[in-house]
Amino acid sequence: MKLATYSANGLTRTGIVVGDQIVDSGIPGTMIDLIRDWDALRPGLEAKAAAGIGVPLSSVKLEAPVQRPGKMFAIGLNYADHIEESKMAVPERQVWFTKAQTSVNAPYDPIEIAKGTTTNDYEVELVAIIGKGGKHVSADNAPATIFGYCVGNDVTERMWQHASPQWSLGKSFDTHAPMGPWIVTADEVGDPHNLGLRCFVNGEKRQDSNTSHLVFNIWQQVEHLSTGMTLEPGDVLFTGTPGGVGAAMNPRQFLAPGDIVRCEVDGLGYIEGVMVGES
Ligand code: ZN
Repeated sequence: MKLATYSANGLTRTGIVVGDQIVDSGIPGTMIDLIRDWDALRPGLEAKAAAGIGVPLSSVKLEAPVQRPGKMFAIGLNYADHIEESKMAVPERQVWFTKAQTSVNAPYDPIEIAKGTTTNDYEVELVAIIGKGGKHVSADNAPATIFGYCVGNDVTERMWQHASPQWSLGKSFDTHAPMGPWIVTADEVGDPHNLGLRCFVNGEKRQDSNTSHLVFNIWQQVEHLSTGMTLEPGDVLFTGTPGGVGAAMNPRQFLAPGDIVRCEVDGLGYIEGVMVGES
């Protein structure tokens, strides 16, 4: 099933995407509420999807599927070719940083270049959305804790990223976590470790890889993170970016106003935003 958060007629709600239509879930609350009560809600939502009484997707505004995740983490240095282009060593331990909840951005909204910054960059990533979550989740049990997946762009301000040993500030600028266009539930995705993912800037392919190349796979990621903290419904994990970022090009290519950045993952759709100066 494909589940979206969308706005129409001044209201933001959740819905089921069926073909080129969206069907109102009829469930009060946010996507996080829906995920929390998923087992109970699922049969009713499946019936609604089958009845298929919706409105055209083109008539609504898609929002980030989870607009205010309780936690949003991203793993760095998790594809061999990106580690190499970053001139870093393959990490022995997983390297995690936070992205502020306020950096969440709708899938087709503009992406801001903050005043005074000139080193904005893209990172296409498979994003995992936590379902049941939990603590001390083993890698073997991790698949059952994932609700679904979507496309993400871990937009990064490189100067800020490397201005301190902790990357979080450079990863947390407003609008720098575009996500969507909807969540595809884990059962529909099947194996998340064999999905092609690509990023295009103005139609030029910059990144082209497959999640089979993850250094630490998603199950290992869940095991690692849940060692010390409880993962909760709607928490968001950016699972790493492959090689091809602008900072590693020669000469370096950073994003400029008017650039259109498209990120896509097989089976999940695409997100696309235009770079704009901060208003
Ligand atoms: Zn990243």
